[in-house]
Amino acid sequence: MNSQVSIVRCDDYSYDNVRTAVKTSFDHLGGLGRFVRKDQKVLIKPNLLSAKDPSRAVTTHPSVVRAVVEEVQKLGAVPLLGDSPGGVDRGVRRVWENTKLAEVAGQTGAKLLAFESEGVYPKTTPEGKTYYIAKPVLDADVVISLAKLKTHTLTLMTGAVKNMFGSIPGFRKGEYHKEAPKPKDFARVLVDIFSLTKPHLTLMDAIVCMDGDGPASGDPKYAGLLLASSDAVALDIVAAKIMGFKDKEIDTTVIAQEKNLGPKSYQQIEIRGEDLNTLLLPKFVLPSNRFLNMIPEFMVKLVAPLVWVRPNILDGNCINCNICLENCPTKSILPGKKRPQFDYTNCINCMCCHELCPQKAVYLEKSWIAKKIK
Ligand code: SF4
Ligand code: SF4
Repeated sequence: MNSQVSIVRCDDYSYDNVRTAVKTSFDHLGGLGRFVRKDQKVLIKPNLLSAKDPSRAVTTHPSVVRAVVEEVQKLGAVPLLGDSPGGVDRGVRRVWENTKLAEVAGQTGAKLLAFESEGVYPKTTPEGKTYYIAKPVLDADVVISLAKLKTHTLTLMTGAVKNMFGSIPGFRKGEYHKEAPKPKDFARVLVDIFSLTKPHLTLMDAIVCMDGDGPASGDPKYAGLLLASSDAVALDIVAAKIMGFKDKEIDTTVIAQEKNLGPKSYQQIEIRGEDLNTLLLPKFVLPSNRFLNMIPEFMVKLVAPLVWVRPNILDGNCINCNICLENCPTKSILPGKKRPQFDYTNCINCMCCHELCPQKAVYLEKSWIAKKIK
């Protein structure tokens, strides 16, 4: 049977509009009652990358989270809210406050869970690789992932499959980056984690997305859509199409397809709701280092001295908070008087510094040849 993906218009984040659109999204998939039953523990996992206000389009919008919590409560189930924000924990409470997740918890009575203090279970893939997954993800009867549609300078797009990376608490995320420095290898890690934590349902906030050099330093981009599916890979195929990526360009999707975790092509997906061919979609600006992924692997070493993109710091923006330095998995950032300094010897271009800088002070510096490539 084909995988179904629901596409619903939602003009803005006003609560009434979001509530209606969320309900319609679930109805397109047979209703939330197909997935959730009375008294079940339902983990709702938004994308809480960092402590940003919802207007920055970095995190899943609180209206979307609230609407899903309330739908779960209507069925007599118990909603729990949790995620592990990016990087070392500087206080998850600040993330909950700034992203307005704490407000949702106050409005609905849903319990907030800090994955960092809930413990982990080891889980092993069929290939024998063990990952340490936050207990609430595996203890829940049902997992509903609330992804946010954004570009990403490492994985090109962050959507449904990548959202489950937040099931890994704290510092271990950096360790996984270090173990898999190449984008393709890291995509394999993401798919492994997704396969071990597979959500029952994913709803994607694509009302205001992010384009450019996401997932934190890009620009908000309005698309006015909510996407939903019980098949996260199918959802990512549709999301990539909306953003304007080519077929087979998103590594996590290709690897998931190779592992039979989702449909092989867009043609195997049944769209319910809006027709993508008639929707007026915005033109997304894709990550400025996207061209690097198109260089064949055997040529990468050859061209590396000439064609490179690496993180650097914009002096005027940096407040010397050292978040980048604390979260660099290879210790390639050193403290400085006015701002940290990069030592590129061991840098693996994981872009964690770019992703986690609260000031958009880390930018992608390019060699002169890289600048000429569009
Ligand atoms: S570059 Fe960003 S994260 Fe790093 S010290 Fe400056 S402001 Fe903080
Ligand atoms: S300097 Fe930045 S891109 Fe390089 S390894 Fe450290 S966090 Fe990753």
